[in-house]
This record gives sequence, C-alpha cells and structure tokens, in this order.
Amino acid sequence: LNRRLAAFGTTIFAEMSALAVRTGAINLGQGFPDTDGPEEVREAAVRALRDGRGNQYPPGPGVPELRTAVTEHQRRWYGLGFDPDTEVLITAGATEAIAASLLALVEPGDEVIALEPYYDSYAACVAMAGGVRVPVTLRPDGDTFRLDLDELRAAVTDRTRLILLNTPHNPTGTVLTRDELAAVAELAVERDLLVVTDEVYEHLVFGTEHTPLVSFPGMRERTVTISSSGKTFSFTGWKVGWVTGAPELVTAVRSAKQYLTYVSAGPFQYAVAEALALPDAYFHGIRDDLRAKRDLLADGLADAGFHVFRPSGTYFITTDIRPLGETDGFAFCRSLPERCGVVAVPNAVFYDHQDQGSPFVRFAFCKREEVLTDAVGRLKTLA
Ligand code: PMP
Ligand code: GLN
Repeated sequence: LNRRLAAFGTTIFAEMSALAVRTGAINLGQGFPDTDGPEEVREAAVRALRDGRGNQYPPGPGVPELRTAVTEHQRRWYGLGFDPDTEVLITAGATEAIAASLLALVEPGDEVIALEPYYDSYAACVAMAGGVRVPVTLRPDGDTFRLDLDELRAAVTDRTRLILLNTPHNPTGTVLTRDELAAVAELAVERDLLVVTDEVYEHLVFGTEHTPLVSFPGMRERTVTISSSGKTFSFTGWKVGWVTGAPELVTAVRSAKQYLTYVSAGPFQYAVAEALALPDAYFHGIRDDLRAKRDLLADGLADAGFHVFRPSGTYFITTDIRPLGETDGFAFCRSLPERCGVVAVPNAVFYDHQDQGSPFVRFAFCKREEVLTDAVGRLKTLA
C-alpha cells in the first residue's frame, strides 16, 4: 500500500460487519437497512434487465431517464432547476461521487476542510487526491453536536480549496440549520471556495427540514451536490448515486469518473429513475418509519445508561459511553458482541483528534422494529 493510503487499512464498516457475522451479534454497526426498498422499484430493475435496457455500456453521464428524474426530484422538493444534459452525472454510489469530485477539483497540497467526525471515505479520498485535510470538529452540546462557525471561519487559509460538507451528518445526526448553511455559503463566497456537499440523507430528517446548500446566494456556481439511491430508497447494494452542479463542475467530476468506473451499472439506473418519481407519500413514509425507529432505539439506549445525542437526521445515533463507566469506544465496540450480542461503531475512526472521538459510539437504527427491540433488551443488560 502506498504512503498516501497506508494509514487507512480496512474500513471500520467491513471490520464491524465481519465481527457481527463471526459472533452472530445484532449488527447495528454498518448502516444498511434490513428491509429492501419498494417492490415496484425492484420490478422496474427486473424489467430493465429483461427488456435489454442498460445491459450494455450506458452513456457516460448516466441514462437520460435518470438524469431527468434527478432534476425533476430537485425541482419537486427544493424548487431547483438543473439541466439534465449538462448539470447531472450518475455515479457508482455517493462513494464514487465523493472520490471523483475530490480527484477532479483538488490540486496536490490544497487544503480541504471537512466536518469532524467525518464519513470515513472523505479522509481516504482527500489523501488519494493529494490534498491536506483540515478537520473542523463538531462540538457536543446537550443532546446534539454543533458546528462552531468561528472555528470553521478560522480554518480557512490561503491554501483552502474546498469545504467538504455533510448534512444531514453521519455519524452525529446533526442537520445544519438554514442560518448555519447561510453562514457556510457566505464564507465560501467571501473566500472564493468550492463546496462539495454530501446530502445523501436529504430525506431522512425528523421534525426539521433539509435545505440544499446550493440554494443559497452565490452557491450555484461553486457547489457540487451529492446524493444516492442507497439511503432514500433502501438499495445500498445498487450503488447508484449522482452529482448535480454547474456545468464546469460536473464536467470536471465526469472527467475523473470516466477513468474510475467509466459508467455506472445500467439497469439499476432505469429503476432508480422510477424510484425518484414515486409520490410524496413514499418519501414521507420512510421518514416517518425511521423517526419511530429512532425514538425506539434512542429511548432504549438512554434506559440502558448511555448519553444519547438525539439525531435530527440520518439513521444513526451517536452515544456517549462515559455514563456506563467506559471511556474507550474502540475497546467498548470490540467487547460489545461478547458482552451483549450487539455490534456498534466507535466514532473515533471518524476523527483526526482521536481524544475528541474516543467516548462516542454509533448505532444504526435502519432495522426492523423487532430487531431494534431485541437489541435494546440486550443493551439493557450492560447497566
Ligand atoms: N456519504 C455518507 C455520509 C454516507 O453515510 C454514505 C453511506 N455509505 C455514503 C456517502 C456512501 O453512499 P453510497 O452507498 O451511495 O456510495
Ligand atoms: N454509510 C454506511 C455507514 O456509515 C455504510 C458505509 C459503508 O459500508 N461504506 O455505516
């Protein structure tokens, strides 16, 4: 492994899912739903396969049906107008969108600001692009984590190229408010920065609204927005994601994507086009379902003695294990399957400042109700 990647090794998600398989524990570590997305969308994939749509290389930017569906979705939910021909790129999940964006937009030595804790591929992709990551730490505050705008402002230097934003935020569940996003936008305009914003959990918000960063003044020409069908439609295995943004930015990202995967799998693109056109009720349904599951797991974790940061978005709950008399999230997660038959993820892996992340542990709640109830029962034996 070369020097750029030597520090990264195996992702925590693979490690923890393997631990769950080995021990037979309930896997609340890696975030994937245990119920597949809508039947009619699966049928659409089968039809595409059978009718010979997408079985050979699809067009580089993605099939026109899906690019149009992405723009219609942005219009329906946010009133945004993107051109499906020049302002949309279909990618192999959000993961490739993140990689291609950073490889396309970062020069070696450029500084990239990311909110810490950050989704693990950010650090690896910044490294692959030869960039320097500059973490801005979200601070625990009662039952939430907050972005300190002064810290963000102070992190910008003459070498800063872009801000890599994520809202709703994995793993903390924080959803940036309109005021916070407006401040990020103002800073980006003032310092002439690009922003790559990972909004894969855009529909998974509870009692609050998600606002795309690109909708703020001055952001249209400097924002690359990323989303994915994995989260909204519960098809994490399909790996269909997308990028929207101004033509020059999308063209740049596409240049990198061409040499990573060339194109993304064809038949699933047609199916995701149909998914994006589902009625509003579908989107409200998944949100309401997850909200009830959040409450079930959050209340259970609190009863089991954890300090719970109640997420406003995503399908993750970050907890503080110190009330249980524990301080080391790594050790805690490694021993948890044996102690009570549950797998979780230590948030420290999402930090440069390991000491800051050490007492935090993440649990996923995108699981069937009976699985969450079982997990809660097991966790209560810890107290
Ligand atoms: N960004 C964030 C914040 C995520 O949590 C995930 C989930 N794996 C991804 C990107 C990757 O999405 P995908 O599965 O579509 O590649
Ligand atoms: N996004 C999911 C998580 O954060 C899955 C990530 C992965 O397996 N790469 O757990």
